[in-house]
Amino acid sequence: MSNIVIIGCGIIGAITAYELSLIEGLKITVVDKQPPAQASTGAALGVLMGIISHKVKGKPWRMRQTSVQRYETLIPELEAITNRRIPFNRQGILMLLPSPQVTTDDLPFWEKLKQTRHNQGWQLEILDVASLEKICPQVDVKSKEYIGAIYSPQDRQLDPTGLTLALVEAAKHNGVDFKFGVSALGMKSLSDRENSSAIELETTNGAIAGDWFIITAGLGSSALTEQLNQKVDIRPVLGQGIQLHLGHPLGNSEFQPAITCNDVYVLPTNAGIFPATDYWVGATVEFPQDSGEVSPDKQILEETLKNAIATFPELSSARVIRTWWGLRPRPENRAAPVIEKLPGYDNVILASAHYRNGVLLAPATAQMVKEMVV
Ligand SMILES: Cc1cc2nc3c(=O)[nH]c(=O)nc-3n(C[C@H](O)[C@H](O)[C@H](O)COP(=O)(O)OP(=O)(O)OC[C@H]3O[C@@H](n4cnc5c(N)ncnc54)[C@H](O)[C@@H]3O)c2cc1C
Repeated sequence: MSNIVIIGCGIIGAITAYELSLIEGLKITVVDKQPPAQASTGAALGVLMGIISHKVKGKPWRMRQTSVQRYETLIPELEAITNRRIPFNRQGILMLLPSPQVTTDDLPFWEKLKQTRHNQGWQLEILDVASLEKICPQVDVKSKEYIGAIYSPQDRQLDPTGLTLALVEAAKHNGVDFKFGVSALGMKSLSDRENSSAIELETTNGAIAGDWFIITAGLGSSALTEQLNQKVDIRPVLGQGIQLHLGHPLGNSEFQPAITCNDVYVLPTNAGIFPATDYWVGATVEFPQDSGEVSPDKQILEETLKNAIATFPELSSARVIRTWWGLRPRPENRAAPVIEKLPGYDNVILASAHYRNGVLLAPATAQMVKEMVV
């Protein structure tokens, strides 16, 4: 029986544990210094920009397609095992095209993407302003000029914390051992022993031996890889969000997709469990200063809210219920995410640094790890 140790229980660690638990003959242990979904995952908006993304080929597109497809089976699968509802908005993503940021010169790009997606078996719709106003009366098309909108009916949005907790519960059900409140301190090569690739994980709860170590510790992954002399530099990019209580749905209560305009998202909370009364607005993108320090900037959050209200004037009467922030793990000087065997180690896999798309790419990440382990 192979002994697998997963370090970190955000969305990436949790989904990896669950997908591996479906394979017979694996003993799986997950350690996390906190309860699940407390770090980046706990702050995420859960928007799955798959079909509507600009990626059309190679690994970036394959990962998006794999994830979009797996989510459609994964959510009902988890709901059946855990008997809990996972907020999963199946009403698609609507991207507004505001002027002057977007011009009619950009339309050929979208026409081409629409055709590419059609050839790949997916759907995208380009809406003119009249159609946009009809399906989304909450958008104020009078006070601001729009070129139109892109509607992606097969993209989704979900509650990342709800999903992670369901994954943990389902993985437990399949025999995975979770150790929360246990910090990974470092990894030690046991090369003096018979098995030259043997490694032991030192934790605040003693040493854990394993045949495979999967590092899914988000920002914490950098320090762990450094201990093995293979540092992957992962740095934080801060994001803030706001929950607004409106008390009633914006526009048509029957059509509540995730809506984005100029990279500001307005999402019905409890994705897919209607009627909507509250909305998430976000998220800001704030890079660290030269000193490496990063803290939430109130002004940037206010600007984000102002932009949301300019698009949906009705939100001006909404009440702020809470604000929050989190740190996205972004790899320095390379593309996100990093999913690979650590150079020089046959049995250490790094699956981290998903930056802005960890929730979207989680199913494909687990699939790639699974292929390396099996
Ligand atoms: C405001 C905001 C909005 C976002 N919106 C979206 C979105 O709409 N769509 C999307 O796809 N993505 C979004 N993201 C990005 C997404 O949240 C991340 O890419 C994703 O959550 C990364 O998951 P993870 O499991 O790798 O890391 P994390 O969720 O950070 O989990 C890492 C875990 O490792 C644990 N850990 C770290 N070090 C150690 C150690 N030494 N020992 C034990 N445990 C350790 C931590 O406690 C933590 O639980 C957003 C992020 C933010 C901040």
